[in-house]
Amino acid sequence: MWLSFLETVNMWLSFLETMWLSFFETMWLSFKKTIFYNTMIADGRWLLIPKGLGVTLLIAFCAIIIGSVLGCMFALFKISRKKVLNIIADVYVTVIRGIPMATQLMIFYFVIFSPMGMSNAVLVAIISFGINSGAYCTEIFRAGIQGVDHGQMEAGRSLGLSWWQTMYKIILPQAFRTILPTYTSEFIILIKETSVASFIAVVDLQKACDNIRNATFNAWIPLLSCAAIYLCLTLGLTKLFSLLEKRIEVNNLVKRFGNHVVLNDVTEKISKGEKVVIIGPSGSGKSTFLRCLNLLEVPTSGHILFEGTDITDKNTNIDVLRRKMGMVFQHFNLFPHLTVLQNITLAPITLKLQSKEEAEENAMRLLKRIGLADKANVHPSSISGGQKQRIAIVRSLAMNPDVILFDEPTSALDPEMVGEVLQLMKDLANDGMTMVVVTHEMGFAREVATRILFMDGGVIAESDTPDKIFQNPESPRLKQFLNAVL
Ligand code: ADP
Ligand code: MG
Repeated sequence: MWLSFLETVNMWLSFLETMWLSFFETMWLSFKKTIFYNTMIADGRWLLIPKGLGVTLLIAFCAIIIGSVLGCMFALFKISRKKVLNIIADVYVTVIRGIPMATQLMIFYFVIFSPMGMSNAVLVAIISFGINSGAYCTEIFRAGIQGVDHGQMEAGRSLGLSWWQTMYKIILPQAFRTILPTYTSEFIILIKETSVASFIAVVDLQKACDNIRNATFNAWIPLLSCAAIYLCLTLGLTKLFSLLEKRIEVNNLVKRFGNHVVLNDVTEKISKGEKVVIIGPSGSGKSTFLRCLNLLEVPTSGHILFEGTDITDKNTNIDVLRRKMGMVFQHFNLFPHLTVLQNITLAPITLKLQSKEEAEENAMRLLKRIGLADKANVHPSSISGGQKQRIAIVRSLAMNPDVILFDEPTSALDPEMVGEVLQLMKDLANDGMTMVVVTHEMGFAREVATRILFMDGGVIAESDTPDKIFQNPESPRLKQFLNAVL
């Protein structure tokens, strides 16, 4: 009985196996008859594609490095006070940008390098694309540097820093932020442009696909494959770069409490390193907006992406994302039953991100930094409001967040304690922390914000640099608001 059962099972298994194998065999045989197989797979022709792709990427990466170095140098020439340097940079940029890339490449190869005995086509392509990209980088870097307020250079120089020191320590770090998006798109354009390298017999991705076309007399499969690979490459890189730049992306956010529309179709992007200050009349939706960013309020509709992940998606683990997003509240919200040290170490220890020793060591280092190491073992009830808020900030910092959200962090403080909290926030801003701050402290906004959002009636009515918002407010509502608070 038992044996015959086993035999039956065995028979079924081998039947299934044969079915399975013959299914695959049929699939494989019919695949072998397809035009795709005959064009791309037969004779290992597809192997040309990864090789070509490697050459394309090699040329693009090396060229962007050369281009960046040239771009830095000529951008400095362009903004130099020496006329001759300006002229050299102008001639370089104008000539390179005025001639088609294919023509430049062939001139470099056939007119300049070949007669000199250099016939390594890939190397010539790298140099040519590098020189070409340098001209575009020059303009990108120049625009970024000149976009930094002129007063910054004067302030640096007045402190006795040399022109170079001011450039390196003050101007370039600020210019970097505006340069990044155009610089990354220059790189993506460069990858596509390298396809003309086949003009000088470089076997890059384009040429590899073209060789397959020549060998098989089939144009559409190799060329469409080529297009698809370029498209995947550029889309992938665009996505990657935007992840590097963007921390938070809010799309068409709506929040209703019953019939009351508190946020009405808000769309906003907050990039890495930005310090966004949100101002606006009471009840305009500032807190609700901030609380939606880490899902303390669940949006009625719309999407919020944090570092590329849609936090409004039901499948997202919001607890994990919140670890990367600190929040500081108006009323501190310290845990009253725990000591200061325990307040700071609770989350890192409970979530097993650090051992108890590591967490305590880290907490003590942070407490020392804000001059409150001596309060480590007391309970929050025995310290001042300003100290409480600074500890609440440190509690967020202990999680190593990528962004910190502040909701009116100084509104509940006695006036003499506002300064110490703002000072800590300024220090964080200087360290490069990405911050979103709802506050009525206009001095802080003016000094620290990279951008100010003016919220009114559930929408972002204006979004601009502090200079523009304070000196040139556009809407009558903003003017009225500023008159009331300044
Ligand atoms: P702000 O921070 O700009 O002062 P809020 O975002 O706190 O504004 O509030 C905006 C509006 O939403 C207010 O009218 C407020 O009464 C309402 N609101 C906020 N939270 C809730 C809630 N949990 N339930 C109902 N209404 C709310
Ligand atoms: Mg509020």
